[in-house]
Amino acid sequence: MRLIVLGSGSTGNVLLIESGGARVLVDAGLTAKETARRIAANGLDPTRLDGIVITHEHSDHIKGAAVLSKTTGAPVFMSAAARSASSFPNGGEDIVWGERVSSSEPFQIGPMEFYPFGIPHDGADTFAVTVKADGIKAGIVTDLGYITQLAAERLRGCDFILIESNHDLDLLKVGPYPWSVKQRIASRLGHLSNDETSRWLREDFDGQARFLVLAHLSRRCNHPELARLAALRALRARGASFFPDAEKRVTVANHDRASEWFEF
Ligand SMILES: [Zn+2]
Ligand SMILES: [Zn+2]
Repeated sequence: MRLIVLGSGSTGNVLLIESGGARVLVDAGLTAKETARRIAANGLDPTRLDGIVITHEHSDHIKGAAVLSKTTGAPVFMSAAARSASSFPNGGEDIVWGERVSSSEPFQIGPMEFYPFGIPHDGADTFAVTVKADGIKAGIVTDLGYITQLAAERLRGCDFILIESNHDLDLLKVGPYPWSVKQRIASRLGHLSNDETSRWLREDFDGQARFLVLAHLSRRCNHPELARLAALRALRARGASFFPDAEKRVTVANHDRASEWFEF
């Protein structure tokens, strides 16, 4: 299995997973054109996709889904609730639909097994997923107000973790958003702060992942270095031997460009 974050942040999220010759996107929140450009820039044929899994209907997760599905023929896997909450052009008629999924039922695309689970967020039936293939387990967890016990459990034993570290609480307080938006972001149905992600790293993370990617950063209320330092500080608090080479293994996903490949 190998994975690449094609883009991540409040402006658009796309992760590509490749295993056994199959390629699946988790979320398609960049435009289709930009997604194709970044896929091609990383050496792959952008017309060859085997599936698009959408975690929920917010535009930073679905923006490119309809056009990508139409142009590549890749089926879109989305929960019924998220699908009816979406406003696709032509009512979604141009989309090749995969089987209806939900936040509680595992499903399979080629050699990859997807295990979704519900998370606290203000989308319809929003889920996070773990993906298993080739004996590797990847956890992809963004768009949640806090880390539930279920999410902490599902993240155990992961070889790769992409986890939200959306905002710095102080920057959010002084940030440019109206009060109602700040309330939404910080609420139990909003997004993970650097502090909440750090709390999970200190209290629940099992230290097994080879790669830990901080993702879905707010452009205005966070900074990649702040998120990274918060995570590194939390890991250091577990002791020097808990997560060796943390400086190399902890990275921050970017809005504007793809990450490196994470290969197993
Ligand atoms: Zn989002
Ligand atoms: Zn969302």
